[in-house]
Amino acid sequence: MTVRRDLAGRESDDLDDVIGLNPLFARPGEIVDVPRVRLPQEESLPETAYQIVHDEAMLDGNARLNLATFVGTWMDSHAERLYADAFDKNMIDKDEYPHTAAVESRCWTMLADLWNAPDPARAVGTSTIGSSEACMLGGLALKRRWQHARRAAGQPVDRPNLVMSSAVQVCWEKFCNYFDVEARYVPISWDHKVLDGHDLEQYVDENTIGVVAILGVTYTGMYEPVEQIAAALDRIEADTGLDVRIHVDGASGAMIAPFVQPDLVWDFRVDRVASINTSGHKYGLVYPGLGWVVWRDADALPEDLVFRVSYLGGDMATFALNFSRPGAQVLLQYYLFLRLGRPGFERVQRASHDVARSLAREIGAMPAFELWNDGSDIPVFAWRLREGHTSNWTLYHLSDRLRARGWLVPAYPMPADLTDVTVQRVVVRNGLSQDLADAFLADLRSQVAWLDGLTGPMPTEGATPGFHH
Ligand SMILES: *Cc1c(COP(=O)(O)O)cnc(C)c1O
Repeated sequence: MTVRRDLAGRESDDLDDVIGLNPLFARPGEIVDVPRVRLPQEESLPETAYQIVHDEAMLDGNARLNLATFVGTWMDSHAERLYADAFDKNMIDKDEYPHTAAVESRCWTMLADLWNAPDPARAVGTSTIGSSEACMLGGLALKRRWQHARRAAGQPVDRPNLVMSSAVQVCWEKFCNYFDVEARYVPISWDHKVLDGHDLEQYVDENTIGVVAILGVTYTGMYEPVEQIAAALDRIEADTGLDVRIHVDGASGAMIAPFVQPDLVWDFRVDRVASINTSGHKYGLVYPGLGWVVWRDADALPEDLVFRVSYLGGDMATFALNFSRPGAQVLLQYYLFLRLGRPGFERVQRASHDVARSLAREIGAMPAFELWNDGSDIPVFAWRLREGHTSNWTLYHLSDRLRARGWLVPAYPMPADLTDVTVQRVVVRNGLSQDLADAFLADLRSQVAWLDGLTGPMPTEGATPGFHH
């Protein structure tokens, strides 16, 4: 059942709406009707309040069957112990928690090294609440760097733009909206399924603060060829003198490529790459919310963006949108770095990769489908309904039927210029074992067989995309 919500997320506009308590755990004398959207006038017993919240959360889906999300939903029991040890730590309070702060620096230095920064000791970085914040910081550094150069040359700074694929994750649209940067989208097409540098000179000009290259496009999981994009920018620089840098949005791919495709050159080995972000809570294998962003060196992060604040007697440098936020996830990331090391990460990511490749092979072999990509970049792939297969059902119907079995496998239209193409996508994460994948495949086959057995078209009402990237 879907609860209808208004714009503010409220389930109804009836402020007197109540949650009725099960008499089994309401104590004598306790209120039995707990207001839903008003702060109650009376207290409840802790066990009662716990039970209400617990029961509410129970109605959420089963995260292990969620093949839509990139975000980690499983950690081992040592990680859980560490989490419980550390849930009170505040990342910003570096004076109170200097060791957590030190661990944070160790983590992003390890990432700088993993991503082949020329001198990891000179790289700068920070943890964030996720890739969205990390991307905002990467974008802000590009913008400020461009402003400094323009001002130094006596040129106006009022019309910055950022060049990226039309298939960027929504955080880049937010960045452009919130920070007054014109978003220049390069549309994807059948010939150019990702941003690959073609025609880039038509988008880049003197007001371009940077180009975003996505390592693992959210819609499909495909890598954008960073080296090829950099080569196009080299040609533009040779022709026009414009020196445009790249931010790599490696929300998922920056924790896959170093282990699964070590020979792929996408990182700081490419001179134009100024900064890279990743989500600790995606293929960094940590619970939400944790992100990372690393700049090649101090020159890539203008000093005037960094705040030095005196806090509880300490002096600290911060570059972040938030102030207080949990520190526990940073410790969990460090735990995984120590526990797995390079070989461990390689084993874990390769296991997901193997599952993705084999699942893609099986799905690609079904007569109903045609693969968009085969899971050989990040362990994510998408497919479409084969042209001419049926006019009785769509991928939205299939998505709906799978959801009824507990599987979340979204269908959605591709971005511009391919909005008439609908795809369905599977994200393979740690925790989707071959066994679970086989169970999914069996359900997929039986639902497709059911739909193929229809003698007339499914109703189209409600069969529309409900998924947001
Ligand atoms: C998930 C994702 C983001 C946003 O990351 P969060 O960690 O969820 O904030 C940004 N870019 C890409 C390519 C992503 O896949």
